[in-house]
Amino acid sequence: RPGERLAKAIARAGLGSRRDAEIWIGEGRVKVNGAAVTTAAFNVTRDDRVEVDGRPLPERERTRLWLYHKPRGYVTTNRDPEGRETVFSILPPGLPRVMTIGRLDINTEGLLLLTNDGGLARVLELPETGWLRRYRVRAFGRVTQAQLDALKDGVEIDGFAYGPVEAEVERQQSDNVWLMIGLREGKNREVKRLAEHLGLAVNRLIRISFGPFQLGSLPEGEAEEVRTRTLMDQL
Ligand code: URA
Repeated sequence: RPGERLAKAIARAGLGSRRDAEIWIGEGRVKVNGAAVTTAAFNVTRDDRVEVDGRPLPERERTRLWLYHKPRGYVTTNRDPEGRETVFSILPPGLPRVMTIGRLDINTEGLLLLTNDGGLARVLELPETGWLRRYRVRAFGRVTQAQLDALKDGVEIDGFAYGPVEAEVERQQSDNVWLMIGLREGKNREVKRLAEHLGLAVNRLIRISFGPFQLGSLPEGEAEEVRTRTLMDQL
């Protein structure tokens, strides 16, 4: 039969893990189009009616994606052990249950992608996508072109290799600077570490793009659904 493994379809519907689903199949608790199926080597398509314990699988929602302008001061995890406020407590009304694609530090602002599809979130946050993430960085200190050039080629900090990265000065004032940093790897606190490596102290960090998606003029705290076919087709 065409389609995907029965256990995978059940797991994707959110009822449990694939292994759980295989056990339920073995126990005779799963029916396809009204008939019990007890072998895991059975494929189903979206036209098949799958039931577990007599209940149909919940309808799978279509994948949706939003751009969100994260304000500073909120963590991007579901629950914070230190009790700090999460972005989930301030998302605009009208969004379904969503998860973030990757994370931003508590004091980082800017573009955060949200989706209702956990599988999509896991794929897009992989470093292997190699997507460019651009940040505007305001920092105290001064930076020279030679330092930026060294950064662009990649640097080693505390035994970890970073880069190569994009790095440009947007504006240098007497004792502070606006930089544009573009990364493809997204290591933990990478921008901050790179800036500190240059002797700079970051005081604003704003993500302005993530792969093909741009923050643009989206106001802080607001979300905008991605409806552009060509963009959705890239996922
Ligand atoms: N780099 C950082 O230092 N912080 C972020 O939130 C993202 C990238």
